[in-house]
Amino acid sequence: HAKQLGRNTFAFYETYMDEKAQHILSIEHDLRNALASNQLSLAYQPQVNAQDGRISAIEALLRWQHPTRGAIPPDDFIPYAEETGAIIPIGRWVLLEACNAAKQLQAEGLPHLKVCVNLSARQFDHPDLIEHIKEALATSGLAPHWLELEITESMLMRDMQYAIDTLNRIKMMGISLAIDDFGTGYSSLSHLKKMPVDLLKVDRSFLHDIPKDKDNIAITSTIIAMARQLGLSVVAEGVETKEQMRFLQDIDCTLMQGFLFSRPIDFETFKAHYKACPFHCRVCLEYNACSI
Ligand code: C2E
Ligand code: MG
Ligand code: MG
Ligand code: MG
Repeated sequence: HAKQLGRNTFAFYETYMDEKAQHILSIEHDLRNALASNQLSLAYQPQVNAQDGRISAIEALLRWQHPTRGAIPPDDFIPYAEETGAIIPIGRWVLLEACNAAKQLQAEGLPHLKVCVNLSARQFDHPDLIEHIKEALATSGLAPHWLELEITESMLMRDMQYAIDTLNRIKMMGISLAIDDFGTGYSSLSHLKKMPVDLLKVDRSFLHDIPKDKDNIAITSTIIAMARQLGLSVVAEGVETKEQMRFLQDIDCTLMQGFLFSRPIDFETFKAHYKACPFHCRVCLEYNACSI
């Protein structure tokens, strides 16, 4: 009986692996023409100043509307885009599209905002990265200090000298640099000190169950205190409740980002909200009266 069960399990496993392989192949195939078929778009999520409540930046987040599968979240396709190299043309497009968006807000006379763009490991290692960044700035006409690039700890730790050199080249252009998902990687503090970055984004897992979770309170407060000592700003990611917001305000976090303020939304919707309330006033924060 055990043997038979084993065999069945194996047969099941084979079919499962087969379907999985098929699925991956079709995603990779479809991804190749997603860009040319206009299936990709960017959603924008604001970051608000923890003290005065004003919006100061927007993060560009990639969206794929697949013709038959519907919306596919970035965590489900970016790994394949990385693997196949499709992330290079896609990332180039993201940079340009995001810079265009920030420039358009300025052209409409709205208070200027930074735009934050996520870089993938393969993009970071690619020899054309600097060219693609320059191209996005030149084509959009956006001044470099309105652009912020997000990288992760693991990208910095693989080849530290390459990382430091690349970050310095980007910094020298006047662009800001942020470490995304901070606290989830393995970067040591002594290594972090050598990286020319401006800002840490505390991973949203550390905000979970704050203020009930005492460990998370300790971790988040420590990261923020350390960042301050190092002269870095901090963005708290994944702020969903007023309790989390109040905690972050109390410990002097710089910026907050999360569903409490806004989900990632398409550019036109964001612009309409921002036009209606460009100051992102304290009232919105304190009473959560404004949906964005
Ligand atoms: P990330 O850069 O850490 O982006 C934040 C993610 O957290 C986003 O997921 C956002 O929708 C989500 N989020 C924001 N606020 C909240 C909240 O209050 N609660 C919860 N539960 N989630 C929140 P999203 O858009 O699915 O993106 C996932 C990841 O995909 C991003 O994580 C980033 O690593 C990657 N990604 C997105 N766009 C790009 C891109 O253009 N290029 C590259 N290379 N990676 C991208
Ligand atoms: Mg990010
Ligand atoms: Mg993150
Ligand atoms: Mg991430």
